[in-house]
Amino acid sequence: MAKDLDPKSVGPRTLAVHAGEKPDPTTGSSAPNLVMSSTFVTEKPEGFSAHELTEDSPFVYARWQNPTVKSFEDKLAAVEGAEACVAFASGMGAAAAILFSELSSGDHMILSDVSYAGIAELSRDTLPRMGIAVSTVNCSDAANIEAAMRPETKLVFIDTPCNPLLRLTDIAAAARIAHAGGAKLAVDNTFATPIGTNPLGLGADFVMHSTTKYVNGHGDAVGGAVCCSLEAARHLRSEAIVHYGGVLSPFNAWLMARGMATLPIRMRAHEETATALAQMLESHPKIEKVLYPGLPSHPQHNLAATQMKNFSGMLTFRLKGGVAEGQAAAERLAAGLGIVHYAVSLGHHRTLICYMPTDSLLETSFRLEGESAEDYRAYAGDGVFRVSVGLEDAEDLYKDLDALL
Ligand SMILES: *Cc1c(COP(=O)(O)O)cnc(C)c1O
Repeated sequence: MAKDLDPKSVGPRTLAVHAGEKPDPTTGSSAPNLVMSSTFVTEKPEGFSAHELTEDSPFVYARWQNPTVKSFEDKLAAVEGAEACVAFASGMGAAAAILFSELSSGDHMILSDVSYAGIAELSRDTLPRMGIAVSTVNCSDAANIEAAMRPETKLVFIDTPCNPLLRLTDIAAAARIAHAGGAKLAVDNTFATPIGTNPLGLGADFVMHSTTKYVNGHGDAVGGAVCCSLEAARHLRSEAIVHYGGVLSPFNAWLMARGMATLPIRMRAHEETATALAQMLESHPKIEKVLYPGLPSHPQHNLAATQMKNFSGMLTFRLKGGVAEGQAAAERLAAGLGIVHYAVSLGHHRTLICYMPTDSLLETSFRLEGESAEDYRAYAGDGVFRVSVGLEDAEDLYKDLDALL
């Protein structure tokens, strides 16, 4: 019992269940203990500096490292195929950790012009104030990344499929371009999940997750993580964990590790249901366009089919008509849905829907004009309904939506 698991010798489902945990040696408990202790008794006096922290350090203080959080980190690292993982209090905590520990005044970053709103706003508002230049480019064409590279570019930050367009970036091409220019590549892998895409294997240096979403999977805990090399994780832990302090709570780590055990089978079900719902919605008379990477009608379906092992559960659709029709339908849905929840967030077992009007998003989060704005409109029209397809029956979801569209 309780031999160490060799991650290379077992499949992803076995890893998701067993990696990072073992039966408790004193009680024999099969399920992992939840360790809430904030401090730890050590066998000899230990240092107080983050710079003295190594992988072999004992547990000293829970902001530095906690056994339950470590167990979750080890599980996610194994499933993502990473040397190491560092967990944060939220996905934004993880994103901010990459940005602030990698970039300094005078550096330049390239960011996908359409991304998670929080990362879009942090990069556009806060980084320039710190003397960091940011170029936002449409990363779905790798040539745009290449054209935006500068001698002082240190980081390329992409998300694929991106929120809310579900437009993809070719990760291997982005990594080649970033590395040729001496920059690192960070990928927000929240939508694709480690079951769909493993960006580190395609050349990325950092993979970040909002583990609030699919990794936890049940809509009851907020958290984030960065998967990377051991060396990069050491730097993130000493700087971003110990000094910025946005650590994941042990209880949330415990919930997330439990959620992860079913991640591979949940993702199969999310994909199956999203595919069925996308197909039904595609022939709905009121719907103009459905975007789902798994549908042959997705403009980048070929890239999706090679880059993604699972198409995940995120789809968007837009209605015929303009913003008035979209807004009115959003109001009907919010007031009348029976099964689907009208709510932000994603990756839960419950299906969630929300309306994302183009004008306000372009103005507030993305601030796109000209060609970038036109390209956004080509995907989204005047606004999209973003659906995070849960684990219910596709027919029930369709009936719930159809009655109000
Ligand atoms: C939710 C989300 C984030 C932010 O994560 P939080 O856990 O809410 O802080 C970042 N990126 C993507 C793609 C997300 O969906």
